[in-house]
Amino acid sequence: MASALMNTYKRLPVSFARGQGALVYDDDGAEYLDVLSGIAVCGLGHAHPAVASALCEQSKTLLHTSNLYRIPQQEQLGERLAALAGLRSVFFCNSGAEANEAALKLARLYGHQKQITNPQVIVLENSFHGRTLATLSATGNRRVQAGFEPLVQGFLRAPYNDLDAIRQIAATSHDVVAILAEPVQGEGGIIIASEDYLPGLRSLCDAHGWLLMLDEIQCGMGRTGEWFAFQHTNSRPDVLTLAKALGNGVPIGACLAGGKAADLFQPGAHGTTFGGNPLACAAATAVIDTIERDHLVARAGILGARMLDGFRQSLAGVDGVVSLRGMGLMLGIELNRPCNDLVQQALDQGVLINVTAERVVRLLPPLILSDNQADHAVNTISQLIRSFLKGT
Ligand code: PLP
Repeated sequence: MASALMNTYKRLPVSFARGQGALVYDDDGAEYLDVLSGIAVCGLGHAHPAVASALCEQSKTLLHTSNLYRIPQQEQLGERLAALAGLRSVFFCNSGAEANEAALKLARLYGHQKQITNPQVIVLENSFHGRTLATLSATGNRRVQAGFEPLVQGFLRAPYNDLDAIRQIAATSHDVVAILAEPVQGEGGIIIASEDYLPGLRSLCDAHGWLLMLDEIQCGMGRTGEWFAFQHTNSRPDVLTLAKALGNGVPIGACLAGGKAADLFQPGAHGTTFGGNPLACAAATAVIDTIERDHLVARAGILGARMLDGFRQSLAGVDGVVSLRGMGLMLGIELNRPCNDLVQQALDQGVLINVTAERVVRLLPPLILSDNQADHAVNTISQLIRSFLKGT
């Protein structure tokens, strides 16, 4: 059937009519276990009663006013997030790319305040920061950029997990104002920062007066077993970007800042029509309340360890499995060959998964997954991978 939609996605031939917890049901009523959560969005699963009721209540009261007025729901959510992250101020927007745009604008303003007229942001190979012109330019993946040149200027590139490369840039460039990094590269294939990487970036930023800006759009909001992945270390960023799981499916993004970055924006410098409206903020507040009430941050850590352990056992010694990586509920199984076919095969078995970076099976299950559901996912996916690698 011809579609009026622009051809931006190679979509799987299925659509879902409803969801409940970690399960979704297609138009024929067939059930699927969702271990992708809409790419790390529905951390509380589908149709969560707390989110549904917050949305219902807020929509009966007031959906939207404008950032021309005070928005109490936004102020309260801002305080909650700032306290959780140990930062001071928040700008709300509608997506991850917009959160990163805000971060990049902060970095440039910071540079101009220091009389750096051509400010440069260090970005990392294999990263993903979004699809707007600035964020695709920041992204370390040529395939995301190709066809959209000229790229936005002002980025210096370095390999991930390589502190020496950053030191080399520091030695030669005097225009650097910030580093933008993901603590776990999600789209890049669940590549986890080595233990000394974030602390190393933090001290380099301190030594040179740069902003440390962390993109936790995919790994934030409890998924890794801490509210934010940087909290596994003691390296707090100056700027932190969030989106995805913040609204559990209601579009909302946030750019948080602390210290010298907290007060850079003044009226007129940045804005948004929808960002931080009462509806989105009510949803995000319900998300935070629920994660706290149900101790889901700790649960993500425990569940993630259980699943990684399960995969380690069931895929031990299997030829073609290059590496098993995980941090909480971000799990990556790297194979020695392109494996996109596994997505359809898993769908046929009633499990929603994803393949990224061509060869990495990526799982981003909801934080509310039960032990049984986790075990079922591990068994089904391990079996599929074994058969796939055997070519059967
Ligand atoms: N940054 C990271 C780390 C992401 O994973 C994504 C989306 O996958 C983005 C930014 C872009 O977010 P959005 O698609 O909401 O613009």
